[in-house]
Amino acid sequence: MKFSQVADCYEKIESTAKRLEMTDYLAELLKITSNDLIDKVVYLTQGKLYPDFVDIQIGIAEKLAIQAVAKATGKRENEIREDLARTGDIGETAQEFRAKKAQATLFKGEQLTVEEVYDTLDRMARASGAGSMDKKLSLLSGLLMAATPKEARYILRIVTGTLRLGIADMTVLDALAIAHGGGKEARAQLERAYNISSDLGKVAETVVRRGLKGIEKFAVSLGKPIRPMLAERLGSPEEILEKLSGKCVVEYKYDGERVQAHKQGDRVTLFSRRLENITDQYPDASELIKKNVRAKSVIMEAECVAINADTGEMKPFQELMHRRRKYGVREAMEEHPVSLFMFDILYFNGQDLTLKPFLTRRKKLEQTVVEDRRVRASTSEFIKTVEGLEQFFERAVEAGCEGIMCKSVDKNSIYQAGARGWNWIKYKREYKSEMTDTVDLVAVGAFYGRGKRAGTYGALLLATYNPEKDVFETLTRCGTGFTDEDLERLPEIMKKHKLIHRHPKVNSMVEADVWLKPVVVLEVLGSEITLSPIHTCAMGVIRKGSGLAIRFPRFTGNYRFDRAPTGATTNEEIVKMYRNQMRKVGST
Ligand code: ATP
Repeated sequence: MKFSQVADCYEKIESTAKRLEMTDYLAELLKITSNDLIDKVVYLTQGKLYPDFVDIQIGIAEKLAIQAVAKATGKRENEIREDLARTGDIGETAQEFRAKKAQATLFKGEQLTVEEVYDTLDRMARASGAGSMDKKLSLLSGLLMAATPKEARYILRIVTGTLRLGIADMTVLDALAIAHGGGKEARAQLERAYNISSDLGKVAETVVRRGLKGIEKFAVSLGKPIRPMLAERLGSPEEILEKLSGKCVVEYKYDGERVQAHKQGDRVTLFSRRLENITDQYPDASELIKKNVRAKSVIMEAECVAINADTGEMKPFQELMHRRRKYGVREAMEEHPVSLFMFDILYFNGQDLTLKPFLTRRKKLEQTVVEDRRVRASTSEFIKTVEGLEQFFERAVEAGCEGIMCKSVDKNSIYQAGARGWNWIKYKREYKSEMTDTVDLVAVGAFYGRGKRAGTYGALLLATYNPEKDVFETLTRCGTGFTDEDLERLPEIMKKHKLIHRHPKVNSMVEADVWLKPVVVLEVLGSEITLSPIHTCAMGVIRKGSGLAIRFPRFTGNYRFDRAPTGATTNEEIVKMYRNQMRKVGST
């Protein structure tokens, strides 16, 4: 298959903002893709080579990309860099330079195939150790020499992690359903397969090779992370009990890192909430699972919490940051030990439990975990009254938790892989006052500082994520809560994300001094959510012409490097928080 067919499709997708059109263009591409390439085309469309849980990424630095363009087009690196400063897009710059070169030499090369492009990118991603930079450079420049200008544009964007076609996972599933599932109705089945495997390529390959029958047989499997179930939120025990038909199981909501453990015999693999393989980070957690989980094969979920090994007391989430490292893992493990609080079981000795009701899973979990000082089943209680819920909540907070998780005991209380649903409702301490719940916001711009802050940034322009439109909408300008040390670090942290234009995915009515690529996520606390005529978050949702903003925002000191920008707080969540707050104000 020619890579030009892929590039043509990407160009069409880019030309529209309408999701339906994007889906149709992608479906056309998937229809003409051969069975043995479909997984690769799906990964490439998402700017990847493999699903997230496979630790092989292309991501090359801009510097190397510039060198490759220079080498392939016979230009000086400075010229490329200057043009890049103008376009802000290495893909566009590569396309232009490739076009000039083609004109000058009347070069008509062999047509690149998808196989060649994918294999070359794969070899680049796997190159490591001494000489790997040279190898990557020569592979990439070789590829560019054989590419048409348009192909160069997309190759460069893929390798630098800036493809961003606006094709979300669900759009790929829609396109697959249209192209190979007999129509959009097949989407639900494909989605379930995706939710239990986290592997869009595998889903695509299965549907083209074995049709919907094959998808039906798609099963939970060890080594492939199940997309996590997420909780809704409510602001009062009364609302929670009403929503859960007057009864639920409440559990401590531990403040740590979510871990999905896959154990097969003596082999344990751990995945993060974002489905990355984090086994190497937590050798101690793997040992605990091996020792304390009684099953040949199992998939369980736990919150991994930093503890004081002497007292067994839980420490705040921030302590876990010390464990986020590639080197010195053993030392960090001794200095910052963890405990595991197991809260769900999704697979047991060959049996998929995700469609079993919660109480069945909970019973199985209790039978499977051998508790000791370091491993426990999450503290839980069956509750039927508001008072009971309040008391359990207070105990949880006293024990160092952030609140409680209220879980439905309904017969439909399955594990909703990949979904945020009402089977789990979180109730956090902060909801008791005004808006003291934190939000995770993406830095999209910055303002120069004055006086003491001259030479650094005085404030950041922060945004929520709108998944429907795949854009970032501004919510607040935040300059409080940064320590002197934070302020010193800021320009350094933001340097590589600076842009000369507003990023195309940022929707802002505020003019920043410096625009930033939406990458860095910060945790922010505010006093209240208010209507705002100048911020674009949820514009027009509550009132025509008004968006929402945070009053008195303060950086908590917590960079959420564990969060992708698309995992930031959404506009919809802010709307919910606003409505909750209003309801509370109304009732007092
Ligand atoms: P979310 O994961 O819902 O997008 P978030 O990352 O901000 O949001 P929270 O909203 O605070 O996290 O709550 C959900 C998280 O709580 C889960 O992902 C899990 O890591 C954690 N957690 C702690 N204790 C439990 C428990 N007993 N049951 C389920 N989840 C728990």
